[in-house]
Amino acid sequence: MRIPLIAGNWKMNTTVAQAVSLVKTMLPDLDKISNVEKVLCPPFVSLNAIKELITGTSIKLGAQNMYFKDKGAYTGEISPLMLIDVCNFVILGHSERRQYFAENDEIVNKKVQVALESGLLSILCVGESLAENEANRTEEVITRQITEGLAGTKPNGKLVIAYEPIWAIGTGKAATGKQANATIALIRNTIASLWDRGTANTIRILYGGSVTGANIAEFITEPEIDGALVGGASLKADDFVSIVSQTSKIKVTK
Ligand code: PEP
Repeated sequence: MRIPLIAGNWKMNTTVAQAVSLVKTMLPDLDKISNVEKVLCPPFVSLNAIKELITGTSIKLGAQNMYFKDKGAYTGEISPLMLIDVCNFVILGHSERRQYFAENDEIVNKKVQVALESGLLSILCVGESLAENEANRTEEVITRQITEGLAGTKPNGKLVIAYEPIWAIGTGKAATGKQANATIALIRNTIASLWDRGTANTIRILYGGSVTGANIAEFITEPEIDGALVGGASLKADDFVSIVSQTSKIKVTK
């Protein structure tokens, strides 16, 4: 049984004071919702302040990125050793990292390898661009990103995948539940051929791309979709709580 997971990716938004205020607003309602793993991924500088607020609650913390070395002369970078003290999850290979910071599959793979060894739970993001989608290359792109992203790794129960079509991120133009379900089934099959079917069936695979309280039900009712990685709507306390609450009700009554 895969426990549903909803993660909020705040991206480069919120000062520390704003982050604290947002968590304080959503925490009472969020904490009460059971049967869903709830993860907040604020900017690095807010991790410690939020850790203090969520300690003793059911909320978990994630980082949005990390470097693949433990320490050294890598100015500006954050290592897995630094994160493991503060948070449980790390988002890796987000399309914005691939697009604006030149992260390719090889770099993402190095990050996944060290994150898995560090004990952090990795949320590995994959997704095709609009041009790739329109050229019917979704299957090829996703298969490559999963195969190369997981090269040299072994299952250890610390991996989550997020399928995030780039054309759906921040555009208000979400995929349909059926489209996302089909691609997520393909991702599960790819993992089954890399590792094994039993392991593939235990891995949570999320959908991400313009998820809101108004459309979460369409995704979470699909059998292959185990939750969502939420960007814009995770910055709105009511909307994020609504996404988590609907997920809890739908997955429990299914
Ligand atoms: C994201 O950045 O991971 C994301 C899915 O963003 P949004 O929900 O805003 O489309």
